[in-house]
Amino acid sequence: MKKHNFCAGPSMLPREVIEETAKGVLDFNGSGLSILEISHRSKDFQAVLDEATTLFKELLGVPDGYSVLFLGGGASMEFCLAPMNFLNKKAAYLNTGVWAKKAIKEAKLFGEVVEVASSADATYNYIPKGYSVPTDVDYFHYTSNNTIYGTQIRETPDSAVPLICDMSSDIFSHPVDVSKYICLYGGAQKNLAPAGVAFAVVRNDALGRVGRVIPTMLNYQTHVDGGSMFNTPPVLPIYSAMLTLRWLKANGGIPEMARRAKQRADMLYAEIDRNKLFRATVPDKADRSYMNICFVMSDEYKDLESEFLTFATGHGMVGIKGHRSVGGFRASCYNAMPMESVQALIDCMKEFENLH
Ligand SMILES: *Cc1c(COP(=O)(O)O)cnc(C)c1O
Repeated sequence: MKKHNFCAGPSMLPREVIEETAKGVLDFNGSGLSILEISHRSKDFQAVLDEATTLFKELLGVPDGYSVLFLGGGASMEFCLAPMNFLNKKAAYLNTGVWAKKAIKEAKLFGEVVEVASSADATYNYIPKGYSVPTDVDYFHYTSNNTIYGTQIRETPDSAVPLICDMSSDIFSHPVDVSKYICLYGGAQKNLAPAGVAFAVVRNDALGRVGRVIPTMLNYQTHVDGGSMFNTPPVLPIYSAMLTLRWLKANGGIPEMARRAKQRADMLYAEIDRNKLFRATVPDKADRSYMNICFVMSDEYKDLESEFLTFATGHGMVGIKGHRSVGGFRASCYNAMPMESVQALIDCMKEFENLH
């Protein structure tokens, strides 16, 4: 039976990327050697890193004066690196969930943190509005897509201060005005590559402005100077990231990814809102994520939850169980998700409704 992969992360990648990655593992560029067993400083791998960097900049629209870095440590490492490199005295953070809270916790190690708003009062099922960001902060940090709760900030917030953003779970799915940011980062395993690499886009002239001593490996400047090659980078995930970026370009780039994301989300939310058995967990349509579509059984049908999970699994749906902190279901629809899989889930929901 065909599987429909709605996993939240690591998650679905384009089939071509998986196949090309597998080929590179067996025989890289017809060299007779695996990409796993050659020097990261070889000409062939340098070409991979260069192409990944160039495509990243081109597709996201990264202006001059910024560096794109591929680093180990995941997004969780960036929670610490961002304040260590950019927080002098005070920073503002928006609390929209578990990942935002983890970023706040690390920032507090380096200075004063102003939590400008929080949606903790309603299990993070909305995006706070009407908050104001103090003007005397070094930056304002937010999470563009809240992977666990299914809320999203697709528009770059209006801000008088520079922005920093965790874009782990929606990078390359909507346009970003990079010039408003001093740093944007994320783990690659949601929308770009297998686990093992994080990306960071940093504004070069914003570096070197904090007073503290930064350990070599934790200093963005080290990786800017070393072109992500100060030490051995995560070679295989970078190779896959390069292949995904090629795929993105061949498939119309961000404008097309944004169109597909909206189309998938509109279809699925429409079914959730129509189907008497289900209810979306994010009430305000404007706040609903296009990447992680979260829903539960409606109150009268609460006891059908495990039955629907079994039913859907039997129809090839994979990874739709909601995060343990929210419950219910989560269909993660990243860039590689085909419309047919979304349609298959919708058909499955309709069929289940007919049984009840
Ligand atoms: C998955 C995720 C993280 C954590 O990423 P790691 O690479 O595992 O550290 C952080 N933020 C968001 C928004 C995520 O979706």
